[in-house]
Amino acid sequence: MEAKWYEEGLKMIEELTSNAEQIQDDLLKDILSRNAGTQYLSRFLHGQTDKQLFKKNVPIVSYEDLKPYIDRIANGETSDILLAEPITGFFMSSGTSGGQPKLMPVTADIANKNELFRTLCESPVMKPEIETPSGLKATSVTTSIYKGSGFRAMLPKLYTSPVETIFCPETQQSLYCQLLFGLIQRDEVVMIGSTFASTVLRALKFLENHWQEMCSDIKTGQLSQWITNSGCRNAASSIMKPNPVLADLIEDICNCKSWKGMIRKLWPKAKYVSGVCTGVMKQYTEELEFYCGGLPLVSSLYASSEAHCGINLEPLCKPSDVSYTFLPNMAYFEFLPVRNDRDNSIKMRNNNEDLEPVDLVNVKPGHCYELLVTTSRGLYRYKVGDVIMVTGFHNSSPQCQFVERQNVAISVDQEKTSEADLFKAVTEAKALLDPLGFVLTEYTSYADTSSAPGHYVLFWELKEKEGNHCTEPDPKIMVECCLRMEESLHYTYKIYRKNNIIAPLEIRVVKQGTFEALMDYYVSKGTSLSQYKRPSCIKSKEALKILDSGVTGKFFSPKPPL
Ligand code: AMP
Repeated sequence: MEAKWYEEGLKMIEELTSNAEQIQDDLLKDILSRNAGTQYLSRFLHGQTDKQLFKKNVPIVSYEDLKPYIDRIANGETSDILLAEPITGFFMSSGTSGGQPKLMPVTADIANKNELFRTLCESPVMKPEIETPSGLKATSVTTSIYKGSGFRAMLPKLYTSPVETIFCPETQQSLYCQLLFGLIQRDEVVMIGSTFASTVLRALKFLENHWQEMCSDIKTGQLSQWITNSGCRNAASSIMKPNPVLADLIEDICNCKSWKGMIRKLWPKAKYVSGVCTGVMKQYTEELEFYCGGLPLVSSLYASSEAHCGINLEPLCKPSDVSYTFLPNMAYFEFLPVRNDRDNSIKMRNNNEDLEPVDLVNVKPGHCYELLVTTSRGLYRYKVGDVIMVTGFHNSSPQCQFVERQNVAISVDQEKTSEADLFKAVTEAKALLDPLGFVLTEYTSYADTSSAPGHYVLFWELKEKEGNHCTEPDPKIMVECCLRMEESLHYTYKIYRKNNIIAPLEIRVVKQGTFEALMDYYVSKGTSLSQYKRPSCIKSKEALKILDSGVTGKFFSPKPPL
């Protein structure tokens, strides 16, 4: 049966990607014919549904433009001001890579779209729903996928985590139980994963801190008392029985100086580790590989609260080479060319034509675009905020690499430093720590403009390669890391530094656990743990306070970069 499901899935992907143009046109026609009469669209289309008119009249928008409509719906107005189909609730986007969480209308049709993606997602942690003033529920897209009845039914076949542990609203209890049951059923586990790499890492670190307690639970067959959630306790009663042999075995495995390759040791039948490793998650790849012990890391999909976008058809390729193949039935996609003056590899002709969005089938390999989506859920020519680069085609559907989030660059003056720029500079600088036996486990940035000229602050959380000690690296090397970062940043940054328009870059080393506290803060504000993405640049005062309270050392670049 599974082989049949797999073959049917492949066939479907072939059909979809071979007929991309037709599917996109039909989808747009359908969306417009149903929604042209909404208050929002009728302003631009006057009831018409023609594609050319849509392209000419409907403006390209971002969340701020639609927010007044979405807020009106959340506050109780009828949803047909924006979309024809009745809405069943909202998705909350994580908002952690850009700013505040955003609300996205949800309709019944999302269940069908989720179906395709469902089996490609894995998540150990859920976030409870919140209610908007209208009484409609707001939930994260991952929660919605897992709550779908189809997924619920398949869960016991796919995961060692009982459904009660996945839907447990207490995240620590949920994580503890899912890991514990994963250990108890270790011989059946063929994959370890979550939606994003950062969540997988968080789970592994949690395991590093809790394995002794888990072993004692396994030995006695009794779940720890602090797990009070009744669903988790019920699930435990059918899975747990005293098993001292297994407890001793796991204790032996975990009780070692280095956790290198621990996933493979704990789950010997695992074939791969799943979790998005592209975009802002790239920085977690190295640390995750440390635990993987050679198991491949698989980034299976590219999706957002706005729309499911693409899947990775070559799951075993290196994380740095991952491209996602767009599925043309998920949304009507347009691609807005973006100019990237610093990178010659991105070819741009210099005329206005280039700035018009192009259709899915007309993108050009090697070019970068900002993604726009039009959906039956009230988003029309909506900027998702992601920049992607086309790497090729699968049949007539493009394959794209994730480049960066738009508008999350750090900047203290006219210069613009992107996520990708920061990542490159951090990668160059952290190499200096390698010979000293330190790894950079987390980083983020902050534009400190409290005194002029402003300067870049990098928060670094470090760890010794072997063991979990907290010794500090040599201050001289840290100062050198500051300089190396500056030298690795782009031309404009360096010119500004030389002219003292930007002050010396600073690295603030924070104690271990500080970034975990940062994540807890965002989760407490409503971000789903499974969707959490560490911000590349800190904008909130509270978040800054959390990072600053963990600082153990401050280092500055000694001179302008060459
Ligand atoms: P959310 O709105 O919280 O669901 O987050 C969606 C955002 O996460 C997307 O717009 C991307 O910026 C990011 N994202 C999702 N999937 C990937 C991926 N495979 N690679 C890189 N970034 C991703």
